[in-house]
Amino acid sequence: MATANLIPYLTEEKIQQLNRAIGKKISEDYSTLLKTGEELLVVVTLKGALFFAADLLREITVPVRVDFVRLSSYGGGTKSSGTVRFLKDLEVPPGDQHVLIVDEIVDSGRTLNFLKDRISAANPRTVKICSLLSKPSRREIAVEIDYLGTEVEDRFVVGYGLDFDERYRNLKQIFELKS
Ligand code: 5GP
Ligand code: MG
Repeated sequence: MATANLIPYLTEEKIQQLNRAIGKKISEDYSTLLKTGEELLVVVTLKGALFFAADLLREITVPVRVDFVRLSSYGGGTKSSGTVRFLKDLEVPPGDQHVLIVDEIVDSGRTLNFLKDRISAANPRTVKICSLLSKPSRREIAVEIDYLGTEVEDRFVVGYGLDFDERYRNLKQIFELKS
């Protein structure tokens, strides 16, 4: 493996602090929205949001169901290919549900724009988006992020689920990757 330059960007403590804050906000917002017997359907985008979702979900105190989707995007490089498609679709029908999409980073906005459109087409009760990170300077399609951890400058980050060619996902911190 080529030696890469990993520059610390977000510490484990900072990430967990963000998770607790987002989890608290989500729990508060949905506790009033969910009537007795209703649950939140959390749709997690694989593979990048795996670690974020695992930690965030344990901070959420309202009843949840969890589903996973996988969407094509980067395919090994650091640039988005532009077209988005399902590599793995939802298994739980989102119709008539309160849906919360959980992603780890919003870059061009294409992935979440595609996913939100698809879910919205199934007539859910509500659809909201949660992302740990966002790079606003890279946006090509406007996406409303209802719950955001923090903004990131235009740099490529890895760790805590975020990969480069499937590497670095298991790092506890987030690093900037310098090639
Ligand atoms: P978008 O469709 O918003 O351009 O891209 C979203 C997806 O691209 C993210 O869910 C993530 O998988 C990938 N991505 C965007 N920026 C980065 C980055 O800085 N690092 C890594 N590892 N993946 C990124
Ligand atoms: Mg993702």
